[in-house]
Amino acid sequence: MGNSKTGEHSAASATNLTEHFDVLIVGAGISGIGGAYHLQDQCPDKSFAVLEAQDSFGGTWRTHKYPGIRSDSDLYTFGYRFKPWTSAPIATAAEITKYMGEVIEENELASHIRYGHAISSASWSTEEKMWLLSVTVSDSNEQLNFSCNFLWMCQGYYRHSEGYTPSWPGVQDFQGDIIHPQTWPENFDYSGKKVVVIGSGATAATLIPAMAEKCSHITMLQRSPTYFATGRNAIEVADMLRELEIPEEWVHEIVRKKILLEQEKIAQMSREHPELVKAELFKGIKQFLPDDYDIDQHFTPSYRPWHQRIAFVPDGDLFKRIADGTASVVTDEIQTFQSNGILLKSGDVLEADVIITATGFNLNVLGDIDFDIDSEPLNFSESITYRGAMFTGIPNMAWVFGYFRASWTLRADLIGDFVCRLLNHMEETGSSVAVPRLREEDKSMKLLPWVDPEDFNPGYLQRSVHLLPQQGDTDPWRHAQDYWTEKDLLPIADLDDGALSFR
Ligand SMILES: Cc1cc2nc3c(=O)[nH]c(=O)nc-3n(C[C@H](O)[C@H](O)[C@H](O)COP(=O)(O)OP(=O)(O)OC[C@H]3O[C@@H](n4cnc5c(N)ncnc54)[C@H](O)[C@@H]3O)c2cc1C
Repeated sequence: MGNSKTGEHSAASATNLTEHFDVLIVGAGISGIGGAYHLQDQCPDKSFAVLEAQDSFGGTWRTHKYPGIRSDSDLYTFGYRFKPWTSAPIATAAEITKYMGEVIEENELASHIRYGHAISSASWSTEEKMWLLSVTVSDSNEQLNFSCNFLWMCQGYYRHSEGYTPSWPGVQDFQGDIIHPQTWPENFDYSGKKVVVIGSGATAATLIPAMAEKCSHITMLQRSPTYFATGRNAIEVADMLRELEIPEEWVHEIVRKKILLEQEKIAQMSREHPELVKAELFKGIKQFLPDDYDIDQHFTPSYRPWHQRIAFVPDGDLFKRIADGTASVVTDEIQTFQSNGILLKSGDVLEADVIITATGFNLNVLGDIDFDIDSEPLNFSESITYRGAMFTGIPNMAWVFGYFRASWTLRADLIGDFVCRLLNHMEETGSSVAVPRLREEDKSMKLLPWVDPEDFNPGYLQRSVHLLPQQGDTDPWRHAQDYWTEKDLLPIADLDDGALSFR
């Protein structure tokens, strides 16, 4: 692999020049910016660019603009391992993008990022041992060609242009506004309005306390309850270490270790003693709610804790709004929308001026990019993952799919190290292609879905898991989704065990 060059690429459309990089990173969200940092740090000789469809960095934290938008995991672990987080653990989107902006500035990454560059297709040429990308520039609609030796997919997991809204009967009859939080209208005025939020996940739990004060009333309409954890938006040990003037790098490392140890214990407790974990979660909620509040009906899910991400409600803000009557929870099902609101299956009517559909995402597979390998369209679901990062039959490509239950970025950092180690290994061994291939002994292994639906089953995955690659039941073909295993395994993964084939 050499330095960046501009030249004519034989597979490119006749007129357009192709700009070449050793590595192209897709997406300037938390994963892509992290990838750029690791690449620059660990593979300083590689030329690279980050291609981002939107007009700035941030990904998730730029797309979502609904009231109150904040993280539901702590920023000590959602932040990168290499840049200390110095504020309260639960952060707003603005704070997260500011942090990412600092990473870009401190590491002089800006010149590597091309905004408004949406990739529409990616073709692998076995002959040329490289990827060729077609890119549309949003300002000018110009079509550009890029090529690279290695493609680092940091496009996240859901479609940014549009969220998921189920189809309900009677929607056309409703006279008010229907809004999906992913496409929140700028300056939307909801003062004095009756608002119904459909959904009970982290988004609903964030929106409701943020909007409650201005609305005449806000209702969370849920088909089934979700677990919530609550506590102060502060970490005592971090505050204490700061008082002792301990350097921020140390504070970051110590607090990360503490949080990760606690999370490991909770995960283990959830598996072994789910009733105890449930009791602890309820204790947290009950302190904010009136004694006669029906916790069983509204806050007791049928699944065991940790089956889906447990949303954190800082300082109990959602429950405080329920207690003071500005917000309420209705657990029921939608029969139909009607002109003044929603008719429920119980026969009750929820009147509304505004209905917010906090109903989730549309999974997007590989950034909605048309992939082909030597002109054969790629069927991603036919491949098997290598360590949840690469895929059989797909050369020189890695995808960062973070953790669901622990912070996403913990995995983005681990995969960052892995990709850089792989690139350096290829350099050292003079290989230009690395592709996962099942060895003889792997061919009889049991194949499983990308994620085990028994273990983790949010709606967007249930709807679309058939579009994602499969995993095997043994390493290195498993997609473990377990930070505590991967943190030890990934850094020492044997690149020469035959599962990766090099040329
Ligand atoms: C509201 C919300 C809150 C969340 N809170 C948390 C949390 O607290 N903790 C946690 O761990 N996780 C959380 N998540 C999950 C979250 O999405 C990830 O943690 C993380 O932000 C994903 O980062 P990413 O960079 O991988 O992907 P994204 O943030 O999705 O960014 C991907 C980028 O790739 C770009 N892109 C995609 N396709 C193309 C293409 N074809 N061409 C060019 N560019 C492209 C997109 O425009 C986007 O900017 C949350 C998700 C949402 C939606």
